[in-house]
Amino acid sequence: MRITALAGGVGGARFLRGVLAAAPEADVAVVGNVGDDITLHGLRVCPDLDTVMYTLGGGIHEGQGWGRAGETFSVAAELAEYGVGPDWFTLGDRDIATHLVRTQMLDAGYPLSAVTEALCARWKPGVRLIPATDDRAETHVVLVDEEGNRRAVHFQEYWVRMHAPKAEAITFVGAEKAQPAPGVMDAIAGADVVLFPPSNPVVSIGAILAVPGIREALAATSAPVVGLSPIIGSAPVRGMADKVLAAVGVETSAAAVAEYYGADLLDGWLIDEKDAAQRDRVEAAGIRCRAVPLLMRDLDATATMARAALELATELGRPDD
Ligand code: GDP
Ligand code: CA
Repeated sequence: MRITALAGGVGGARFLRGVLAAAPEADVAVVGNVGDDITLHGLRVCPDLDTVMYTLGGGIHEGQGWGRAGETFSVAAELAEYGVGPDWFTLGDRDIATHLVRTQMLDAGYPLSAVTEALCARWKPGVRLIPATDDRAETHVVLVDEEGNRRAVHFQEYWVRMHAPKAEAITFVGAEKAQPAPGVMDAIAGADVVLFPPSNPVVSIGAILAVPGIREALAATSAPVVGLSPIIGSAPVRGMADKVLAAVGVETSAAAVAEYYGADLLDGWLIDEKDAAQRDRVEAAGIRCRAVPLLMRDLDATATMARAALELATELGRPDD
């Protein structure tokens, strides 16, 4: 079975562990978000790609969900002594090695997709991890200050430094000119099942969908596309997705996220048992919906979620089966 998943960082990576446990024989391709990428201290940092790579490759800081296990911060401490910022985004020493290799390869002319493949040769994540695009397509957030002035900040500054205040709009700078990275379109067209993990619908999955061609390929595929809600009740399970949903005019609920993706993209949608009352609303939007436990408490629970998604996909079937 060929499974293709779109993925952000922590939510995507943890879910993918469940997919690999549920379908150990499957050939899994992951289209990763690059909207969060940022250059710091001259180093190209790709937080979501690295979270997937470290999580599936056994290098992640488990408690935190991102960053390297056993990390130290000597370089960050030295930079602070020099008064060199930004002080709101700390790179660990081990992590810096990844960014050095990546930056060196990018500077030598390799596209990000080739660099990611090279980094994965060490981590062996058990999936084919492909950045959504090799081009720059960075997520920026438009804010309005008390005087009514609009300004845009990089997503990382908005999220990490500012802790996601009320936002006016989200823009994917450069996305309109970006092309899907080599392998992305084939991974979608050749998939038996496409999965949307419970990643952030706006700044993780949405940033991937902003690359022209990807949304169209997902809409065109005959393979079932099944997603899982990152929202349980009226809040994200972790993080501040409610803030970016509000910025795109979407209410924070499992059903509203399904409607936001729409029946063009989604064939099936899993919501948490607590939200079972929203099932009819999702199905009214033309999306088959099931209510199952959606908390990724541990690998077993996550694998059960992945199995539920694959079962729903099987049930939705493929026209050429
Ligand atoms: P990020 O890039 O690190 O923010 O990670 P993602 O975009 O891949 O995932 C973030 C989303 O994962 C958040 O909106 C969370 O609500 C969601 N999430 C985290 N843990 C869980 C969980 O156990 N269950 C569900 N359903 N969603 C989760
Ligand atoms: Ca992210």
